[in-house]
Amino acid sequence: MESSEKISAAISAGVDVFRINFSHCSREEAFMRVENIRKAEKEHGRPIAIMADLAGPKIRIGMMKDGQEMTEGSLVAIHKELKEGDKNNIAVNHPEIVDNLFLGCEVYLGDGDVRLEIVKKGKDKAIAKVTAPGKVRSKMGFSAHGLALKKFEISSKDKADIKIACEAGMDAIAASFIQTDLDIKAIRKLVEKEGRDLMLIAKIETQQGIDNAQKILDVADGIMVARGDLGYAIPMERVPHVQKELITLARSKNKPVITATQMLESMGQNSFPTRAEITDVANAVMDGTSGVMLSQETSKGMYPLESVRVMAKIARGAESYIPVIDLPELNEIYDAVATSAVSVAEHIGAQFIAAFTESGSSARRVCRHRPDCPILALTPSISVARRLCFSWGVMPFVAKEPKGFEELDDLVRIALQTGYFKAKKGGTVVIVAGVPFGLAGSTNLLHVAKI
Ligand code: PEP
Repeated sequence: MESSEKISAAISAGVDVFRINFSHCSREEAFMRVENIRKAEKEHGRPIAIMADLAGPKIRIGMMKDGQEMTEGSLVAIHKELKEGDKNNIAVNHPEIVDNLFLGCEVYLGDGDVRLEIVKKGKDKAIAKVTAPGKVRSKMGFSAHGLALKKFEISSKDKADIKIACEAGMDAIAASFIQTDLDIKAIRKLVEKEGRDLMLIAKIETQQGIDNAQKILDVADGIMVARGDLGYAIPMERVPHVQKELITLARSKNKPVITATQMLESMGQNSFPTRAEITDVANAVMDGTSGVMLSQETSKGMYPLESVRVMAKIARGAESYIPVIDLPELNEIYDAVATSAVSVAEHIGAQFIAAFTESGSSARRVCRHRPDCPILALTPSISVARRLCFSWGVMPFVAKEPKGFEELDDLVRIALQTGYFKAKKGGTVVIVAGVPFGLAGSTNLLHVAKI
């Protein structure tokens, strides 16, 4: 999905956020993709966000001789250091990991198609038996339940990619393998050094990330339930529980949460998803996720646009089935106004809620409740508007700042006239705003208007 025409078609099909995966992207490609997305964004006249996904400190095996195939029952030594591996010897890129392996521990190589079980521990190596045979290539992923680095490190590649994301004008960074709040703080520092303020989405894909999710969410701008790597880092049957817990946690803290990986996997080859995939996407929406993400379906699959259309259709179909859950009471004035706006909108059957927002937080406070009508977020800042693309049910719109109360209804009408946001003439809208205008965090006004 490289050309601006394809990108434009993807926006028509329902994309709000594009992910640029730095595991497979050069500096030139990143700049070219950003340029094409911005071109398509302009054509569509609606904000579109771009998220850089950092490779992060993924644990991998080292370089391997060509054509290596591990056979069932054979023994493999896992070394701390080794120049070139073969079918009986591999090394890992973080030597300390070898010390963390224990007897009986199941190791997954790549996408888990090759599996090993640790049968002996030595000082500088561990011995494993092959339980699921297969081909092994250089730099395949190396995972096991609970396996983690002692210390999160930002590689020189990640540092360079953060710089590219900032220079190219991306809006967000998805930080892989985040284990603690300190990891996010370290990335934030590098972004600030570039003079930018990008949204930081912490990818939760280790047991440590799960354990520290509360604190991570206090400093991150959102999280991703990165089910691909998570599926190896914890027992697979726990993934659905963790997904639900992380989504509820993010929602309770007013932060967006993306559910990712293998959502419509079979659409890489087929034009129609499996019933299980339809149910998976719908369940993520019913769990309360803010966003659902496609990966190989759109990057190299045969039906990229159809995948987006299908995903949007399933998400829309599931939205009215989001159960009401008990969220922690927030007693600040702006939270009370947001909660009341949702309640008033429901009582009067409002067509939508319009939130005038300086920093985006008023709109996020409204969307936390997953109201059964859309939220139009009006903000003078394009970067705030793009950030709001990550939030559930929010249609961001760049509007001029209201000068007075009497301008609110007109600004909403102007947004409707662009045709970007469809509403029936004469319908009711619940408006939230803050007076004095232009001050972030001042939401204190609730107003009902006929549009
Ligand atoms: C994942 O592991 O689920 C994920 C989204 O990360 P990546 O695409 O980098 O594997």
